[in-house]
Amino acid sequence: MSETVKYLLPEERLPRAWYNLVADLPAPPPPSLHPATGACLTADDLAPLFPASLIEQDASTERDIEIPEPVRDIYRLWRPSPLYRARRLERALDTPARIYYKYEGVSPSGSHKPNTAVPQAFFNQQEGTKRMTTETGAGQWGSSLAFAANLFGLEVDVYMVKVSYQQKPYRRAAMEAYGARCIASPSNLTESGRKILAEHPDSTGSLGIAISEAVEMAAQRGDTKYGLGSVLNHVMLHQTVIGIEAMEQMEMAGDEPDILIGCSGGGSNFAGCAFPYIGRKLRDGNDIRIIATEPAACPTLSRGVYAYDFGDTAHLTPLLKMRTLGSTFMPPGFHAGGLRYHGMSPLVSHAMDLGLIEAQSFQQTECFAAGVEFARAEGIIPAPETNHAIRAVINEAIACREEGTQRTILFVLSGHGHFDMQAYTDYFAGKLTDLPHDEAALARSTDALPEIQGVKPLISA
Ligand SMILES: *Cc1c(COP(=O)(O)O)cnc(C)c1O
Repeated sequence: MSETVKYLLPEERLPRAWYNLVADLPAPPPPSLHPATGACLTADDLAPLFPASLIEQDASTERDIEIPEPVRDIYRLWRPSPLYRARRLERALDTPARIYYKYEGVSPSGSHKPNTAVPQAFFNQQEGTKRMTTETGAGQWGSSLAFAANLFGLEVDVYMVKVSYQQKPYRRAAMEAYGARCIASPSNLTESGRKILAEHPDSTGSLGIAISEAVEMAAQRGDTKYGLGSVLNHVMLHQTVIGIEAMEQMEMAGDEPDILIGCSGGGSNFAGCAFPYIGRKLRDGNDIRIIATEPAACPTLSRGVYAYDFGDTAHLTPLLKMRTLGSTFMPPGFHAGGLRYHGMSPLVSHAMDLGLIEAQSFQQTECFAAGVEFARAEGIIPAPETNHAIRAVINEAIACREEGTQRTILFVLSGHGHFDMQAYTDYFAGKLTDLPHDEAALARSTDALPEIQGVKPLISA
């Protein structure tokens, strides 16, 4: 029997529609609120930041939303992405479990992020946008939007968290190769950046600060819009190509997942795979377990509160009802840039509130150990973020061995780690330490959550 087993869909099986989970949910997600008035957010409120088509997708209750042909055409550069059976890993673990992974590292920027960067750039170009602003932490989102926007002739300004700007010159070079301008954040180009620099001249930045800068610049100019790489409903929607394809590939394999696992920063690669399965679970009642995994140092789903909060540090964004550690929470500097965010997708948070998903958190060294074990068995070196999913996968597979039960596990391999080898270098040098979140800092930042209409919307974790 061949050890290498992969399931490839023919090009014509590339999905024609994205899947919108809201259509199947038993209760609608809570509305987003205006940051100044606390009133329900309207399309007009968002118009300075996003094109109308994306605002419409955010609020849509339709189940299937057509993927425009120019978007499908660019998707074809790497989609449908392969699904692998991890037989060599199964053998290394001596587990009766069957493990499958959907590999999103085959995209031009090496992660799932172009799945939403391409449609965001397309809808912006359709509605006359000339320039997009965005933020990036480790650089995966910035390079994905730079790639996509360039194909549609749009300019891109990327506010990159300063510590990454200094430490990840290759990501910056990748953005510049696609023609984007990369700015270290906090910068003195924006009000938000100048304010931070006045208070903390040595600030190395955060995602929350970079979002404030990008949003501020987009709000100022009619021809400039903002792009967000995770969290928002339209981003979750675009990522569902992952799960739609995976379902068909699992069918080719003649198998069904009992457990689905994805790492979760803002929630998009996890939701992209999980939402089509959650929809099916809601319609057919099958009992798949769906697990989102995250760092113990930034445990948004496992330790956050479900409350209205801002998406950024300067409080320019709408108030979103989400799992949050508080917009003033500064995660410690661990090696999974894409998972260092205080908030979580409102839809993923809502799904958790409805009991449709569970969360697990892990320390970074146990995640790197899992990533290395995976690389030695399967050949792909995963991104540090993805290692949080692989830790959970290996734990479940070991549990199967110990209990003597056969289960099928499916996970998203959200990206390869080729731009993150410094993190592996530090791991091998024994320099990575495990940093649990700081209880006192967490209490302070959740205490500082905004008051809405006199009612502190605190629902305990
Ligand atoms: C950005 C990123 C993540 C985290 O973002 P989500 O929106 O939660 O998916 C995970 N893995 C990789 C490889 C990333 O680039």
